[in-house]
Amino acid sequence: MAFALLLRSLALMRIVEKLGGSRAAISFEFFPPKDQEGVDRLFKTVAELAPFAPSYVSVTYGAGGSTRQLTVELVGRIQREVGIDAMAHLTCVGATREELGGVLDQLEAAGVQNVIALRGDPPQGATSFMTPAGGFGHASELAAFIKGRGTFCIAGACYPEKHPEAVSLESDLERLKHKVDAGAELLITQLFFDNADYFSFVERARALGIRVPIVAGIMPVTNVSQIKRFTAMCGARMPGELMQRLETVAADPEAVGEIGVQHAVQQCRELLEGGAPGIHFYTLNRSKATVEILKRLR
Ligand SMILES: Cc1cc2nc3c(=O)[nH]c(=O)nc-3n(C[C@H](O)[C@H](O)[C@H](O)COP(=O)(O)OP(=O)(O)OC[C@H]3O[C@@H](n4cnc5c(N)ncnc54)[C@H](O)[C@@H]3O)c2cc1C
Repeated sequence: MAFALLLRSLALMRIVEKLGGSRAAISFEFFPPKDQEGVDRLFKTVAELAPFAPSYVSVTYGAGGSTRQLTVELVGRIQREVGIDAMAHLTCVGATREELGGVLDQLEAAGVQNVIALRGDPPQGATSFMTPAGGFGHASELAAFIKGRGTFCIAGACYPEKHPEAVSLESDLERLKHKVDAGAELLITQLFFDNADYFSFVERARALGIRVPIVAGIMPVTNVSQIKRFTAMCGARMPGELMQRLETVAADPEAVGEIGVQHAVQQCRELLEGGAPGIHFYTLNRSKATVEILKRLR
């Protein structure tokens, strides 16, 4: 048993080393559940997705840092108990650099080597992000802080259709270049539904000298009102034809799920053929749609 665990811990790697090989990386994103029942369900989902041999999985950091402890616990548990490399999300919201350093200490102690450095969204009720006293105002500052420790592989977020607060894609890309220069070794995109947005974004990023892998973030549509809410929040555009198809079957969950899977399969095929180094699935802690997509991609 101890030997098996030792082998597993030796196998743990910095995520960036898994990108750029002959096989594109597949990864899954989860969020920290609210209660024990949700945690049990999450581990069931992880077990159902594990046979697809993800290169890594990630666990988000709740708005306002509300799930800080749970995020740390879950990434540690996934690595220890399931043996998959896990990446912790970490945001600047409401935390001093000492507090962020404390979270990084805990991650290090748990053997977690991968962190995605994020600014985070404004806390509920606030209209704009406020830099916490003694903390950081941009993800690039957090990335530089994490890099200073020298132990983590650092990822960053990026937005093929631009971050909602950015005045233009050009200025957003310039900020993104700072984030990479500050230490982000790979980027994961916001969800998007039109691959043309991803490919033109990658081209513009490369033209600016951003050389790191840009992993495509894909969210399978499973519920029409939910996806409308998400896209309104994150600024992702749903192609009119796709939205129309979904709306005509909105009351039929099976039909919505099937359209969502078909669209995601088509997106993934084209992305992989076009050279995307990896696909990061926003799973919402459910396996059904992602399993179906991966089966059809085989
Ligand atoms: C893959 C992924 C994972 C995510 N995970 C989480 C999570 O776990 N928890 C969570 O709360 N949120 C998460 N988010 C959401 C994210 O926190 C929000 O999108 C947030 O609004 C921006 O975070 P960022 O890290 O991209 O910020 P930044 O890179 O700091 O950018 C935010 C905005 O500031 C601008 N900007 C950047 N640097 C500067 C500068 N020096 N001067 C002026 N403007 C600047 C950028 O152009 C952009 O408009 C995630 C997003 C993605 C794509």
